[in-house]
Amino acid sequence: MTQRRLINNGTVVSMDPAIGDLTIGDVLVEGDKIQAVAPDLGAVDADVVDATGCIVLPGLIDTHRHTWQAFLRGIAADWTLGQYMTGLHLGLSGFFTAEDTYAGNFVGAVEALDSGITTLLDWSHNVNTPEHSDAAVQALADSGIRAVFAHGGGADMYQVPSDMPHDQDVRRVREEYFSSDDNLVTMAMALRGPQFATLDVTESDLALARELELPVTLHAGDGEWGRTGPIRQLATRNLLGPDITYVHCNTLGDDELRLIADSGGTASIAPDIEMQMGHGWPATGRLLAVGIRPSLSIDTCVSNGGHLWGTMRVTLATQRAIDNSEPGASDRPAVSLGSRDVLSFATIDGARVLGLEHKAGSLTPGKQADILLVRSDTLSLAPLNNPVGQLVYAAHPGLVDTILVAGEVVKRRGILVGDVAKRACQLAAEHRDALFDRAARSQRLADARVGGGWQPAPLAAGT
Ligand SMILES: [Zn+2]
Repeated sequence: MTQRRLINNGTVVSMDPAIGDLTIGDVLVEGDKIQAVAPDLGAVDADVVDATGCIVLPGLIDTHRHTWQAFLRGIAADWTLGQYMTGLHLGLSGFFTAEDTYAGNFVGAVEALDSGITTLLDWSHNVNTPEHSDAAVQALADSGIRAVFAHGGGADMYQVPSDMPHDQDVRRVREEYFSSDDNLVTMAMALRGPQFATLDVTESDLALARELELPVTLHAGDGEWGRTGPIRQLATRNLLGPDITYVHCNTLGDDELRLIADSGGTASIAPDIEMQMGHGWPATGRLLAVGIRPSLSIDTCVSNGGHLWGTMRVTLATQRAIDNSEPGASDRPAVSLGSRDVLSFATIDGARVLGLEHKAGSLTPGKQADILLVRSDTLSLAPLNNPVGQLVYAAHPGLVDTILVAGEVVKRRGILVGDVAKRACQLAAEHRDALFDRAARSQRLADARVGGGWQPAPLAAGT
């Protein structure tokens, strides 16, 4: 018999305009789907998940994370974008075995899940061999998260500007693992785009993605690389389309943002990393001005934390700082960007950007039951005067009490079910040590070390 669960007596933030917020409400889950959302569903024959003292909301959605790097967290806390390129993206990346890739993806996906992210786009651009791809996909499946594996090829494809076409192994991966779109893990292609590959290669890469019927995600508008007019270049060959998500967008011209909007393209912004590493001001307000609602992302996860609660706060604070630095700002009658907008970026807008709007992003009957219970009877949230505002400004992974993915309880009373957390921590330590040992024995990265003092020589921007 199909399992039924009644999430009972919580404060419901549905992110579905037709349902709205319920001061007290119930959510009925049947199998992997949401069956009903209402103030009081009464006595129902179902297992009860007591949500008293909790906010019930849809799982968060991260639309761009280089998950393989997860056990290298912190090493880039004081690096520039150029140092990240030499130290990690074109540096430590070369020492990753397939087992390291498994560990990175497992650690990163479990970390994301524990924090309340139920859907993750894994922007996987260090799959140097077929075995690396297999390991990356397997780790996502083992973690229990809903994921989009975005095949990005290996680091050798990033010798800028690259004339190497995208790795053809993507065809095998598509056929072997992703013949169905109904599984918890689905597929996309992570392309270099015109900032990192020639326009001819970009054109052939996009043709390959469209032949394989895979959505595309590509970096555009990050730092100096983004000032080369990547969207104008794509437009000259009529390559823009609704199947492309543009990651960052900071240094794109307003005309380029309009080209994206006119083509139906989508955006993923990562304000923490963008401000820290030098991509430019987050494009939140400029995107909204042309009618594009961005989704949110963590990005490299080697300096900023891996949870979207922090990213939501940074997104809101940054846009308000930009708005408030304009002349006459103190006469403004209202803020331009609200906390509900930002929660929307992290939920329903994320689902739309990933093409999963029919499955995730809101507590809507018929959608998959990807649901969070966040404790609000706590020192940081009680009393609940403004559920959405308090979620955005004060929530953190430690308050995420219960998580369902596709109707399965994966976190209960603050603890992930099973041994995934313990396994992730063990894998993180083992693979971190082994990777740095191999790097330290090499000529190329002999100075690589943990502890916080490693400062790689930067790659000059624009090279
Ligand atoms: Zn990225």
